[in-house]
Amino acid sequence: MKGETAHPQQRRWRVSVHGIVQGVGFRPFVFGLAERWHLTGFVRNDSNGVTIEVEGEEQALQSFVHALRTEAPPLARIEQLRVESLALVGDKEFVITASQSQAQRRTLIAPDTATCADCLREITDPHDRRYRYAFTNCTNCGPRFTIVLDVPYDRINTTMRDFPLCQQCQAEYNDPRDRRFHAQPTACPACGPRLKWSAGDTDDPIAAAAEAIAHGQIVAIKGLGGYHLACAADDEAAVSRLRQRKQREARPLALMVRDETVAEQLCQIDPIAHTLLTSPARPIVLLTRRPTAPVAPSVAPGMQTLGVMLPYTPLHYLLLNEYAGIIAPGRVAAIVLTSGNLSDEPIAYEDNDAHTRLAPIADSFLSHNRPIHIRCDDSVVRIAAGGPLIIRRSRGYAPAPITLATALPCPILACGGHLKNTFALGRGREVFLSHHIGDLENLPTLRSFHEGIVHFQRLFGITPEVVAYDLHPGYLATQAALAMPIERKIGVQHHHAHIAAVLAEYGLDGPVIGLAADGSGYGPDGTVWGGEVLIATCATYRRVGHVRHLILPGGEQAVRQPWRVAAAALSQIYGSHFWQMDIPFTRQLDQTAWTVLARMIERGVNSPRTSSLGRLFDAAAVLVGLGQIARYEGELAILLEQIADWSQPPYPMPIEESATTDTPFTLDGLAMLSALVDDLRQRVPPAAIAGRVHQGIAHGLWLACRRARDEYGLTTVALSGGVFQNAFLLELLTELLGSDGFTVLIPRLAPPNDGGLALGQITVAGACVG
Ligand SMILES: [Zn+2]
Ligand SMILES: [Zn+2]
Repeated sequence: MKGETAHPQQRRWRVSVHGIVQGVGFRPFVFGLAERWHLTGFVRNDSNGVTIEVEGEEQALQSFVHALRTEAPPLARIEQLRVESLALVGDKEFVITASQSQAQRRTLIAPDTATCADCLREITDPHDRRYRYAFTNCTNCGPRFTIVLDVPYDRINTTMRDFPLCQQCQAEYNDPRDRRFHAQPTACPACGPRLKWSAGDTDDPIAAAAEAIAHGQIVAIKGLGGYHLACAADDEAAVSRLRQRKQREARPLALMVRDETVAEQLCQIDPIAHTLLTSPARPIVLLTRRPTAPVAPSVAPGMQTLGVMLPYTPLHYLLLNEYAGIIAPGRVAAIVLTSGNLSDEPIAYEDNDAHTRLAPIADSFLSHNRPIHIRCDDSVVRIAAGGPLIIRRSRGYAPAPITLATALPCPILACGGHLKNTFALGRGREVFLSHHIGDLENLPTLRSFHEGIVHFQRLFGITPEVVAYDLHPGYLATQAALAMPIERKIGVQHHHAHIAAVLAEYGLDGPVIGLAADGSGYGPDGTVWGGEVLIATCATYRRVGHVRHLILPGGEQAVRQPWRVAAAALSQIYGSHFWQMDIPFTRQLDQTAWTVLARMIERGVNSPRTSSLGRLFDAAAVLVGLGQIARYEGELAILLEQIADWSQPPYPMPIEESATTDTPFTLDGLAMLSALVDDLRQRVPPAAIAGRVHQGIAHGLWLACRRARDEYGLTTVALSGGVFQNAFLLELLTELLGSDGFTVLIPRLAPPNDGGLALGQITVAGACVG
């Protein structure tokens, strides 16, 4: 036809883009591409992501779509891109149109992101109007998840809605060529949030805070996902005062350092550490400390590592810069920056609550008037076996989805575990693992668990048809799941969930050999599980082996008081008169307390048996003399790793075959403890014993894998469970398995501890339904 000869290849396409494409500069990016190829049409955000309609020559349209994928802005993550042909409309220009709200919300909210280089340049440039402005951000950086109230992601749906833009900011916001085009949280000193200093009048709250910290005070600082408590990292008096007031006895405190040079001064930094430290997520990275690190002893007592992070908001950058400028020469530009709470409470994030709860701890407050909508703790990462091991996946990572290899059959909610709780919502191929919720025993934490689920359902438009939960009837997350008005409920065994989370990450269905090295999890046979050899698929598992049972006199009490486990283990090995042995542990043993426990065990009262590797580590640590009680979860086992000499030969941990073929084999941890006691009698130094324990357990687990390979012909091993936060154990075992022809799967995206449980629960539930 005549019209077509005039414009031979004129076409109109609709391009639907799904993924993290809102609030990350995607529309100005699209606008720029449309200009480059002289296309007309429009782009808009909607609840499904971004919709583009473009008109132009076919060649140009193809280049345009190609560039959408290959040149997308740094924070964008395209999950899906669909192209349809439409009839020509004949637009005259390319425009960005208003957002649309739709019933089905499929958009993704980006995680909070560290200040970008451009914004940093502005806040340090005396001629820039954002010079020293603590809330500077743009489409490439700044707060996201913590300020979002609802979708679509527009300023009106964030906590920035109370800050109308000034003329200049509005102009930037409207200009598709500007870095702040539609940057929802954008602000400047004229129109945006302001800092507030609680201790007297000042026109420079940051300088006042830096001054206070340098003089040994404790300052509460409102950050991105909550309040922190800060003090000088090299001031022992200040750090121990902070510990005392916070009632945090022993657990290491995190540091924020001015820059990587300071980090290098404190710790060894390899390329992986560098990547993690400077990544947009800016987690706390656990690094090997230098013996000369000028840090107060109370920061991380007994630890060879320090938890270090770099500044991630303009406020932190300005504060650390100011601090570096005023401290005496020879002092270090590092501050303790720990969660603003009292011992086990959740981190404070609402201003009134923070001022009440933190008043007894902080000497002063550096706060501001931009509300935090969602509490979000700092993430924690360590490095093991050549990659990152996520200990806590929260700020900077959540709520970015983890992508599955195959779609879930229906929307699923997983309620997670009891301690270190996270929940997860899954739909299609995406699993939204929540930010760190915490220990559900705490009432405010339990409340944020419930509120968090509602918030996620709204943000991602997911109405679950199935709820997955842990089998432990005492878990509050389990009780919550059972009380939910969701018809289909699927209980998932704790360690099956741990292994399934790894399968999900690697896109596998199994079967694999699953090694769960854990503290504790509910076992369907009435014992407490935690050192399990499973043959696992996503849908099912079979327990083919486990660590030989230890006894937990007093149940949960024995977890907090590992001396009980050690004493019970010695009585298992040597009989009731073990306390007559001459080793340091028996010399210190409170015999009256032990007599009571011995009677409990004899009568079978509140003395469950456990196959937990965490408890085996605890018992070993007690016998070595690292302490009698754990002041925080896993303290003694962590200290055992810290002192271990890696070059030691292993203790024996032999396999005991079971009497019948359908019962699991056992790995004899008591044999190991007996060899350990022999070493104690020989006065072998603690570092050597600690090394032999790690080697012994690694070799035992390796033997178990060989045993499983011989019988089932499987060569892939998935490792998970909280004990694998132990980098020494993980690396030893990975090496042993790798050089023996096994393929080893290590969780890298979700924590091996209970923070990753919900991902596994969704995976199992999806496989069972589908
Ligand atoms: Zn920026
Ligand atoms: Zn402004």
